[in-house]
Amino acid sequence: MTAHVIDGRAMGAEIKAELCGEVQRYREAQGRSPGLVIVLVGGDAASSVYSKAILRVAREVGVEARLEQLSALTSSDELQSILRQLNDDSATQGIIVQMPLPAHLSQKMVADTVVSSKDIDGISPRSAGNLFLGLPSFLPSTAAAVMEILERTQTPLAGKRVVILGRSNVVGKPLALMLLQKNATVTICHSRTTNLVELTRKADVLIAAVGCPRMITADMVRPGAVVIDVGINALPEGGIVGDVDFASVREVASALTPTPGGVGPLTNVLLLKQCVRAAWNALGETVAVR
Ligand code: NAP
Repeated sequence: MTAHVIDGRAMGAEIKAELCGEVQRYREAQGRSPGLVIVLVGGDAASSVYSKAILRVAREVGVEARLEQLSALTSSDELQSILRQLNDDSATQGIIVQMPLPAHLSQKMVADTVVSSKDIDGISPRSAGNLFLGLPSFLPSTAAAVMEILERTQTPLAGKRVVILGRSNVVGKPLALMLLQKNATVTICHSRTTNLVELTRKADVLIAAVGCPRMITADMVRPGAVVIDVGINALPEGGIVGDVDFASVREVASALTPTPGGVGPLTNVLLLKQCVRAAWNALGETVAVR
């Protein structure tokens, strides 16, 4: 069997086109675009790249986005005060604070300060709690991107065995909750899991989010499984690979995301989608943006 290779770029373009229409509709109703602010403290290189990528997607879909670049020496009180101003700013519907923060700043303070109605990357305890309780919530965008891929590829989930490798707060854990809501039988694996291959070989859907280059090989995959590769790993010799050994797993799986070009291109688009949803929510309209 040679797997269908899921084209995340094409899917991202499709969602962007849908979002453009939604932003247009919002603009016609409100006379302005939804507003997004990315807060970047210090000069972390990867965060700068992510921020630029988000700004680019925002421009493409018509969301009014700006970067609030702060000095690495910004104090906790200053950062909190800026976040509170953004909470109160009626032109800002989505707030993202880039991680990692400089060591003297607390991620918890940020998560506790950003108001949940603008927490479009689902980092706050309130967003996480709502997800846990099965209530409407903003979702961490990478986990949301995986769900979007499964939905758009019409991958059956109810009653299916889904195995997730990785239990981070931004990918593995929220994904497990979202999949439970879709009635999947979910197993979460991590670095202390002892019988990994035994578990992964049972998966109808296998999701890898570990950060280990090409760790998932063909012998770990049940023939016909759908494999979603979240991992992004830079190789010392140059180039980017996922957590899945694409060449070998392609011969076993029924469908597979590539890296690059799989989950990655959807992540920022889904973030913008949640920003547009936040903008509608602020008007008291709970519109399903899709
Ligand atoms: P993370 O916070 O480092 O978590 C990694 C998880 O993998 C942990 O739960 C860890 O277990 C588990 N793990 C590590 N080695 C393992 C092994 N040998 N066997 C089983 N489990 C193992 O990473 P993350 O933020 O979730 O990101 C995961 C990957 O996705 C990274 O490659 C990251 O670059 C990528 N990523 C991609 C996107 C995207 O847009 N596509 C977005 C975010 C992240 P323990 O909990 O026991 O330590």
